[in-house]
Amino acid sequence: MARPHAVVVPYPGSGNINPALQLSKLLRRHGVFITFVVTEHNLRRVRAAAAEGAAGGGEGFRIEAIPDGILDADRHAQDYDISLSKATVDHGAAPLRELVARLRDGSAPGVPPVTCVLPTTLMSFALDVARELGVPSMVLVAFGAAALMAQMRQRELKERGYLPLKDESCLTNGYLEKTIIDWIPGMPPISLGDVSSFVRTTDPDDFGLWFDITEANNCTKAGALIINTFDALEADVLAALRAEYSRIYTVGQLGTMLRRSHLDEEATSDDSIDLSLWKHDTGCLAWLDAQEPGSVVYANFGSLTVLTADQLVVFAWGLAATGHPFLLVVREDLVRSGGTLPPEFLAETAERCRVVTWCPQEQVLRHRAVGCFLTHCGWNSMLESIAAGVPMVCWPVFADQHNNRKYACEVWGVGLRLDEEVRKEQVAGRVREAMESEEMRKSTARWKAEAEAAACPGGSSHENLLGLVKALKEGSL
Ligand code: UDP
Repeated sequence: MARPHAVVVPYPGSGNINPALQLSKLLRRHGVFITFVVTEHNLRRVRAAAAEGAAGGGEGFRIEAIPDGILDADRHAQDYDISLSKATVDHGAAPLRELVARLRDGSAPGVPPVTCVLPTTLMSFALDVARELGVPSMVLVAFGAAALMAQMRQRELKERGYLPLKDESCLTNGYLEKTIIDWIPGMPPISLGDVSSFVRTTDPDDFGLWFDITEANNCTKAGALIINTFDALEADVLAALRAEYSRIYTVGQLGTMLRRSHLDEEATSDDSIDLSLWKHDTGCLAWLDAQEPGSVVYANFGSLTVLTADQLVVFAWGLAATGHPFLLVVREDLVRSGGTLPPEFLAETAERCRVVTWCPQEQVLRHRAVGCFLTHCGWNSMLESIAAGVPMVCWPVFADQHNNRKYACEVWGVGLRLDEEVRKEQVAGRVREAMESEEMRKSTARWKAEAEAAACPGGSSHENLLGLVKALKEGSL
């Protein structure tokens, strides 16, 4: 049987590149050849951030780059995320078609013919490329099953007259919170504002909403959906999704799956494949080593969220007011207008605060010193925290993050809400509550154990991965 070869095409952000790389490493361990496609801009960033020897390929793993069509001068624009989505669709398709066509026939030395195109969500143009070239495809959903279900139902929200919003007052008069949607299959009643951030529009032609709806529904053109979640965590909504699309492989939490596969084997050359877009500050791990177990608050807003200078300062003083040591990640572009932590803050907290620009998050969350995670509720961050058994204080900003918060706080019992308006006393109070609550301790321990069980032989994610590999090997997509 010829070796299966998947061309993996993640959306060009860390929240998609990271899970796509973890999935690729798992598939490669099971004999699948991987071509991993990044944008040229990101390849330059990966190389600049890489430690000596990292970012490389290895047997059965190669990296290719395609343009994203954005001028470097435009990368700091206010609406960069939206323009990145538009540009990737407009500029990615032709080079990807050329790449897959070149690799499809297997004439490249040492490269088996392409047997599957595997984009993440938001990259559905890759599914069109696959179809045009007659290659099977699958999609890696880089967010949760509930977020996918909610995203898919936005079309119906439009048809039922909820969207677009009637006027601007709906954004501020409590309408989004008070309007309850109780008909999404497999989901508990949810406020309109928690469905996704893209509902916050009065424009019938809003690109963000259109793109979100289109991409969610385009997923179903693929031969299978792979979701970075585990069955026990999202049982109801997964049952509802599976009633609509039978080919769903839940293989999360991917970090736990990868760790477990490392336990079974010697370290392999995939340890050297690191596609981080930022340079990790690994010194913070040594700092954590010196802290008491469960004593540290870890705060990180992910790879895309932007704060105002005031919000950053209020968060920082709120963390200081907890009385706990804290690790605060301030990405270089976290405050786009400039602005950083005031010198008096750094002087006053020097003894018990560590500020870094990017860290190895999964290692940090699994460190015994970490007792609470202040998060923007990106799906990967939340799932990494759940798998590590760390309670969260939740401050969602956009996309699926409000939906994720709802589940963390109201369904799984592992998170506490913060108001949108950041207040020092509330930040400190919620962090302390999360660290002291016996009820949350029990919930986090339970979900950590469930995540671990899913990744063990006989567990749902473990068995689904084997099923996925089998489908890839047999070409039965
Ligand atoms: N991440 C990291 N170091 C950091 C911040 C983030 O390694 O300092 C990783 C994190 O572990 C996660 C990803 O970047 O895998 C962020 O994805 P997420 O879905 O949480 O949020 P997004 O960045 O897409 O908003």
